[in-house]
Amino acid sequence: MELNANAFPQAATIALQDVQLQTALARGTGNAYQARLRAMSEVTDADALRRQARAAKLRALQNLPELLERFEVNIAQRGATVLWAEDADACNRLVIDIARRHSVERVVKSKSMATEEIGLNHALESAGLSVVETDLGEYIVQLDGDTPSHIVMPIVHKTREQVRDLFAEKLGMTPSDDPEVLTAFARQKLREAFLSAEMGITGANFLIAETGTVVIVTNEGNGRMCSSLPPVHVVIAGIEKVIESVADFATLVQLLTRSATGQRLSSYVHLMSGPAAPDDPDGPSHVYVILLDNGRSRIRETDYAEALACIRCGACLNACPVYQNVGGHAYGWVYSGPIGAVITPLLNGVKNAAPLPYASSLCGACQAACPVMINIPDLLLRLRADLVEAGESSPALSAGIAAWARAMSSPRLYELGGAAARLATRALTAANGQVQRIPVPLLGNWTTNRDFPPFAAKSFRQLWRERQRGS
Ligand code: SF4
Repeated sequence: MELNANAFPQAATIALQDVQLQTALARGTGNAYQARLRAMSEVTDADALRRQARAAKLRALQNLPELLERFEVNIAQRGATVLWAEDADACNRLVIDIARRHSVERVVKSKSMATEEIGLNHALESAGLSVVETDLGEYIVQLDGDTPSHIVMPIVHKTREQVRDLFAEKLGMTPSDDPEVLTAFARQKLREAFLSAEMGITGANFLIAETGTVVIVTNEGNGRMCSSLPPVHVVIAGIEKVIESVADFATLVQLLTRSATGQRLSSYVHLMSGPAAPDDPDGPSHVYVILLDNGRSRIRETDYAEALACIRCGACLNACPVYQNVGGHAYGWVYSGPIGAVITPLLNGVKNAAPLPYASSLCGACQAACPVMINIPDLLLRLRADLVEAGESSPALSAGIAAWARAMSSPRLYELGGAAARLATRALTAANGQVQRIPVPLLGNWTTNRDFPPFAAKSFRQLWRERQRGS
């Protein structure tokens, strides 16, 4: 997916005017947010579980090289081949090579953010392969030539009516608004793809080093179909997916599913450790696991390493007032919402995603929702500091902050500024007592969609002096 994060302000403005998008977002994020709250409330000590999960992920990041090697040794002993990809191009080349080696023409895929990140579908199609996304949301996105807008709910931006029209147009289906009918129709189409594909590609939610196990968590069972029906299975996983032990997996999976979809456990939690054994009734003959770096090792060496603890549950997106209003596409890349505003600049360079660290009110709802307690507001602030250091902050903002700092450090200037602001807002106050519009560039943006409350008629200092005088 082409990076377009610097267009965030324009894209967000358009998104705010899109009534259909606003309806879909309110429904999708609202339901997911409430479902997570309900699921977490069932846990006796949710914060203790979150601390345990955080410790597991941070420990894994600390010992990443050793754990990756242990994972490789253990899964290789069971017949899988582990390959290492330094970047997106290397990873895509490896997949194409595997496809050629096994004379693959048709590929089925389950949902994977890592493959979105590296533009795998485009690379495979350019190499002449046919690729079918099998997660229902991703299938719809693919049919529509669209891109996913949420880590967990790829079509949260679409309404049911849009899906109805799409299926009628692209698949010739008799239009229906019934989700069950739409799903059954898609399932039939996908079943044909599963049965004819020579290669299945999946991501991984976790890689367990202790046992050499790949874990795939889905609600539709398509991950299991992709990894067991075609004779060749390729797993593409970011290196940060490795965890130490089955015990850590037991902790993390409880939080992943509760945080992502509000379920105690997803419908399918698939654990696999290599190709089918001779006495297995089914399963792939060949399993490849590609460990993707693509900038992760570099991030691990910085103060932003904590961002790699993300387990891609999407809870911070659903909790974020910015995401709830602008949706995922406005962020201009694969990862959206609060964690996207951190990861996109880290993976692509802060100058190439300069508006994203500012796409937050720093309210802290993301950190409060995060099952591994990533301090996203702090990471965003640090990215803002990096932007200032890189000379990327707006001159108007820098001048405004410099003037503010000067005024706040001088009681005289502070008082004068307050008096000027009171005078100005009095002149601009409408009949309802609110300041309708501040006619100043930059500050005026604040009042484009909201009223600005007028300053109090008298400052605290004035009131205090009057009180002292007894007047
Ligand atoms: S940052 Fe936390 S809440 Fe957001 S997707 Fe990652 S794990 Fe989930």
